[in-house]
This record gives sequence, C-alpha cells and structure tokens, in this order.
Amino acid sequence: MQCKYLDVSNSYYDKEDDEYIVKSYIESEEIHRFEHEIVLDFEYEASEIQEEQYELTFIGVDADTYNMFVDLSENDTLFDCIDAKSVMLENDKHWFENNVVRCSECGKILGFNDLDNYHDYNGEPICDGCAVTNENGFICPGCGLKHPYERMGNSGTYCIDCQEEYDD
Ligand SMILES: [Zn+2]
Ligand SMILES: [Zn+2]
Repeated sequence: MQCKYLDVSNSYYDKEDDEYIVKSYIESEEIHRFEHEIVLDFEYEASEIQEEQYELTFIGVDADTYNMFVDLSENDTLFDCIDAKSVMLENDKHWFENNVVRCSECGKILGFNDLDNYHDYNGEPICDGCAVTNENGFICPGCGLKHPYERMGNSGTYCIDCQEEYDD
C-alpha cells in the first residue's frame, strides 16, 4: 500500500495557535499483514446440465464487512517498509526556509523567532549547547555575548568592547 501520514519529528507545532505551522508528511510504501474475517458474496445458479451442480459467480466483499478499519499506526501489522521519505508541502517549505531560525554555530533549529535565543557579538542566534566557551569562542561576562578569541581583551576575560569599561 501507498501511505501518507504526518511526520511529527519534521513538523513544527505552534503551542499558542494550537496548530501545526509547518507540516511534513512521510510518504511510504509498506507491506502490512493482519488477519481479519471477511464475508464474500457469491451468486449461485443450479446447473441445467447436471443435477446438484451449481455455478458460482463472485459478487464482491459483503457490504457489512467492507467498511472495516484496521489501525496501521502501530507497528504490529507492519511487515516491511519498502520506501519512505519525508515530504514537506511546497508552501510550507517556502515559509519554513524564510522563517526558520538556526544556530549560527551548529545549525540546530531554534524555532521561528529570535526572541529567546543566546547571541554572538554579531547578533547571530546560537543554541544553548553552543552558548558556552569552547573552541569557537568565549562568553564575555560583561556583555554576555559569544566572541571569537581574537576579540578577547588583555584581561583574558572580557571582550574588547567591554574591556575598557571594566578596566576603569
Ligand atoms: Zn548550536
Ligand atoms: Zn563583552
């Protein structure tokens, strides 16, 4: 079967609006196996040539058992997943690329606004994990921003912008 379902890990939910602002879907080709009893309808006609012989004509799946539901969301019916890819709708993709805020150091997605993020001295957003003194730079205790080491003042603690202020 061909399947299409919401890719939760690649979709983005807005808690305030209580809806998905960017939706991605998994499009996959899956083989499911399950057991279910169904009723098949046949018509039969008595043979004119030979007694006690009947000719069967298949009509279809009985209407009462036709509209059955099988929950495929749990993996217990899944036999094999042949192919699966995450697909974002074109409109959503466009919006996503224009609005997504990423950590300028590691590329992690921070969300869709730059209000609560840490920043480097250029005003570029950085994630919690990168907002530390590491090989890429240091956090100045004066301005709280991350700077590359070439922007470190003589004190070895503050950035060159904060250096003068704290020297006095
Ligand atoms: Zn980061
Ligand atoms: Zn500073």
